[in-house]
Amino acid sequence: MMNISVTLQDGESIQVSASTSVGEALAKLQSNKQQKRTIAAQANGVAVDLSATLEQDTVISPIRIDSDQGLDILRHSTAHVMAEAVKDIYGPDVKVAIGPAIENGFYYDFLREEPFSPEDFEKIEKRMEEIVASAAPFVRTEIDSDTALASFAAKQEKYKVELIKDLDTKTVSVYRQGNFTDLCRGPHLPDTSFIKAFKLLRVAGAYWRGDEKNDVLQRIYGTAFFDKKELKKYLNALEEAKKRDHRRLGKELELFTTQDSIGPGLILWQPKGALLRRLIEDYWKDEHYRHDYELLYTPHIARQDLWKTSGHLDFYAENMYSSMDIDEVKYQLKPMNCPFHIGIYKSRKRSYREFPIRWCELGTVYRYERAGALHGLLRVRGFTQDDAHIFCRPDQLGEEIFNILALNLHILKTFGFAEYDIYLSTRPEKYVGSEENWQKATEALKQALEKKNLTYQIDPGEGVFYGPKIDIKIKDQLGRSWQCSTIQVDFNLPERFEVTYTGTDNQDHQPIMIHRALMGSLERFVGVLIEHYAGTFPLWFAPVQARLLNITDDQADYCEEIYSEMRKAGLRIEKDLRNEKLNYKIREAQLAKVPYMLIVGDKEKEDGTVTVRLRNGKNLPAMTIMEFIEKVNEECREGRGI
Ligand SMILES: [Zn+2]
Ligand SMILES: [Zn+2]
Repeated sequence: MMNISVTLQDGESIQVSASTSVGEALAKLQSNKQQKRTIAAQANGVAVDLSATLEQDTVISPIRIDSDQGLDILRHSTAHVMAEAVKDIYGPDVKVAIGPAIENGFYYDFLREEPFSPEDFEKIEKRMEEIVASAAPFVRTEIDSDTALASFAAKQEKYKVELIKDLDTKTVSVYRQGNFTDLCRGPHLPDTSFIKAFKLLRVAGAYWRGDEKNDVLQRIYGTAFFDKKELKKYLNALEEAKKRDHRRLGKELELFTTQDSIGPGLILWQPKGALLRRLIEDYWKDEHYRHDYELLYTPHIARQDLWKTSGHLDFYAENMYSSMDIDEVKYQLKPMNCPFHIGIYKSRKRSYREFPIRWCELGTVYRYERAGALHGLLRVRGFTQDDAHIFCRPDQLGEEIFNILALNLHILKTFGFAEYDIYLSTRPEKYVGSEENWQKATEALKQALEKKNLTYQIDPGEGVFYGPKIDIKIKDQLGRSWQCSTIQVDFNLPERFEVTYTGTDNQDHQPIMIHRALMGSLERFVGVLIEHYAGTFPLWFAPVQARLLNITDDQADYCEEIYSEMRKAGLRIEKDLRNEKLNYKIREAQLAKVPYMLIVGDKEKEDGTVTVRLRNGKNLPAMTIMEFIEKVNEECREGRGI
């Protein structure tokens, strides 16, 4: 029999006879302990099952159960098991669609008339346990497409039939475990017993292939891990995330609301949310002023022609709302602020001496999002970007990017975000601008990141067509990542709008334009802040800093007096002078996550003081109103880092 060589990636080589399985080859190349943790492998760069046979010289690297890829395979295999359980319980009338692994879990889409209920989940999980216990192997078979078509058609699995037709290949692979066969590329676990811990989480509606014209399917989400401890940890984190859900807290703390009568994805900021937003905006404006930016305001609509010039009608139309007629001229809501800032730039001739020009705006834009994609404050149809545009000479690009990064990280840190994932996206296949410019700009972005000692990953080819960009994702208290800042170099708009400046040579030149948003949008940022802090905001931007509580009616007048004194001093204060038990009022203030409770009884009234109670239940000694105001101001200065 022919021999072939199998080489472990970065390791030794052995000779085995052809048709040896990947698992057998790996067993000779790695320790028993390693072998036990191996569930699949990369063979010449392709992910395969351990049961796959080797027919040629192969470089092989094991996929271990504790790797990301291993976890994906586990979860996708669990999806197959779930589909088997569903078919076992509910019979052949239920149709299966697709069941991929996703971040943190998996799903499978089913067509079934009756909705799946929590009781169904219990039944399905129970059946899944049995399948797992049976240690059924996942068996891969390559069959010709016509046979596969006939077999799935016989079972009236119309989605599988459609998928096979779309694949349009001679052969397809199917996987069978127990009595369930699925169309699948694989790879899979060796057998179902590798699934040590799983849980079904929820069910949601989903269109076949994401198209609203297609069947509505039921998508069952679940997750799986290689041990019970990890699953428990994840379920706890999920519980914690639920408690922090900004939609729930936004309602409880009366920060924002959306209403069907107004329209989905359109945010109504309630007084406390509006105050929170104002505090963020004020801080943002102050910091930009300190960093030599100038503030702009621009309209919400513009003539349609503007969006033709900018290219938005060609490249961005599906995100824009339809036009309106004003004096028989077409206008459109703005999806971006850039063309307006260019308008201000072009209001007169510009010279190199003015550069860099740094203009910022809290600019409200409107973009179409599918109704199904809308999500609290995180995905909306109207939002305010914390936008800025910098016009500079090519030789100033590096320094400007560095300055933007510095301001960016400074602001994020002040809000309590000190961990980031940073991505540098380079030139895509379709692009505008010269190759030389792209290279220079990409280099400038790289150097700024390195000068700032930031680790980053390169996303090759993921830049926008008009220039390279840096994206920053922030990590929250629960370790979740949120897309937040973006810094983009643009060679396109200056060209389209014929933006120029007079250089030292007295000739016209084209400036470089940088777009950047630090928070992304105020809506999104506030949503992330709510989840990050679970609504317990730091004093400096807490919409309510203190709540006054009297013990009896005898102190009501005194409370009114000091309430207006503190309000005049700029304190964000509330009063609860209801004729209720003090403990009850304290509990309510705690639920409202108010940083300070100021308790006033006869003693305090007599001494002209308040007793200060923290939200964690601790009490501070009584202090005068002035002392308290000074304490709050001091803490806020510290929080804002000035
Ligand atoms: Zn599969
Ligand atoms: Zn822009």
